[in-house]
Amino acid sequence: MTTVEQTVTTTNNFLRTVIDEDLKSGKHSGIVTRFPPEPNGYLHIGHAKSICINFGLARDFGGRCHLRFDDTNPAKEEQEYIDSIMESVRWLGFDWGQHLYYASDNFEQLYQWAVYLIEQGKAYVEDLTAEQIRAYRGTLTEAGTESPHRTRSVEENLDLFSRMRAGEFPDGSRVLRAKIDMASPNINLRDPVLYRILHASHPHVGDAWKIYPMYDFAHGQTDAIEGITHSIFTLEFESHKPLYEWFLNNLPVPARPRQYEFARLNLTYTVMSKRKLQELVQLGTVSGWDDPRMPTLVGIKRRGYPATAVRAFCELIGVGRSDSWIDVSILEECVRSDLNESAPRAMAVLRPLKLVIDNYPVDQSEEFQAANHPQKPEMGSRNISFSREIWIDGDDFMEVPSKGFHRLIVGGEVKLRSGYIVKCTGVVKDNEGNIVELHGEYDPASREGIHTADGRKVKGVIHWVSAAHAVTAEVRLFDRLFSDPNPDRGGADYKQFLNPGSVETLPFCKLEASLAGSDVETRYQFERQGYFRQDPKDSLPGKLVFNRIVTLRDVWGTKK
Ligand code: ATP
Ligand code: MG
Repeated sequence: MTTVEQTVTTTNNFLRTVIDEDLKSGKHSGIVTRFPPEPNGYLHIGHAKSICINFGLARDFGGRCHLRFDDTNPAKEEQEYIDSIMESVRWLGFDWGQHLYYASDNFEQLYQWAVYLIEQGKAYVEDLTAEQIRAYRGTLTEAGTESPHRTRSVEENLDLFSRMRAGEFPDGSRVLRAKIDMASPNINLRDPVLYRILHASHPHVGDAWKIYPMYDFAHGQTDAIEGITHSIFTLEFESHKPLYEWFLNNLPVPARPRQYEFARLNLTYTVMSKRKLQELVQLGTVSGWDDPRMPTLVGIKRRGYPATAVRAFCELIGVGRSDSWIDVSILEECVRSDLNESAPRAMAVLRPLKLVIDNYPVDQSEEFQAANHPQKPEMGSRNISFSREIWIDGDDFMEVPSKGFHRLIVGGEVKLRSGYIVKCTGVVKDNEGNIVELHGEYDPASREGIHTADGRKVKGVIHWVSAAHAVTAEVRLFDRLFSDPNPDRGGADYKQFLNPGSVETLPFCKLEASLAGSDVETRYQFERQGYFRQDPKDSLPGKLVFNRIVTLRDVWGTKK
């Protein structure tokens, strides 16, 4: 057990305390957790919290974590989701090794256990309709009413249940229920449904079954079969715990897993319901589950969030038992601080405005050396070309400067990052008065530093690229998908809170030449702009497309 002590380096939480005690007391010699997604959608950032908890605990305590598909509802489940879930868990950096399971692999055992309950007089076949069952169930304040079929004989129940399995009855005509307590204050114990008839093809077991177990009847027993020691749920399952335990107590299961609950992740400016995310995809509001604005793991991966940043975020927010909201800016800050360390710098002009350096020879060019990271000489440097015509950002010039504007104005000087000091000498406009070009002069003595030859100091430093050398790219500036902190709040349609400016596409950005050969995986800091990476789907050899991963600073607060 010394290894346990040594490996636990991360922040403590109540689950760690429980596990620590269970290992110290000898209750368990090792721990087994599981991440149990239902393959009915893509994973999102909330699932990342659960994945990090389950796989993280197994890693830190030298145990193991299973990936288990909770596939009890074939109506909504698809192989596409199974594949993407596995890919996302791996992307997050976790590995289930050989411990990949499907709840559906236990369908025969679960069926036998249902038969066992019938034989014990603890389950019966129900003929009431779904509506009648609901009406008989009672309310939070009123006890339920026992069904007339509750007293069926064991023989009749066994016969009907086997005929349900054989596919003799239509969908919805009968269910199997546990016989527990119709007066229980916990509604989950009022004879819960165990099996329903569903003539549906299942993505994992095909057409073998005409009846499917309910989630509650499958989950705890599957935990027991797999030898899960600590079964970790989100808080809304707290009221299911007595049922979870009722099954373990009333069936000859091989182990006694224990259920624990933690608070789910709620993130501002986001919706996380799979149903709503699916709706956004179906309506075409987003381009797919992997749209870079989506909170799905495939979305944030495509956008360029590093998996390390997502794990750091999950670690930072911790594990508690009270529901709370996490501001999305905390996630963004994790991404920013990760990329600030790792991203090489590059220059990109997103809203190009040409500056012609009149005192620089027409056919000449020269190179400057620029560090790839200001604090990390080990990341090396690259050459950037300078020539007579350069692109600067339209935002870095003002004809009528506002107070405190330290960038380019007519008659003023700025330092080109890693290049010369230039002065603006004039503006060219079209017939409508739009600025189409600037003219200027460079100071040949200013190759290094921010001081001119005569010692004048220049305040503003701007980024730029040589027009003759630049590569053109489309850049997509992503912003939050919703403009309200809680688009999900009661009653209102969450779609009314969609942020109309959640993406701005700039088709003709000018990038330094070194980015032409950049690879898709590298995330860059475009100096003074933010962090960017090539879009892995849309960026092609002839057409560069970059996604903005995150801005350089948190500008959301100041924007409002
Ligand atoms: P649904 O059950 O409505 O389809 P779900 O989001 O609960 O949606 P599951 O596939 O059941 O989807 O989730 C897998 C695991 O992830 C579960 O253990 C669940 O508790 C956990 N999980 C889901 N959403 C969150 C969240 N926002 N924060 C933390 N854990 C979550
Ligand atoms: Mg669920």
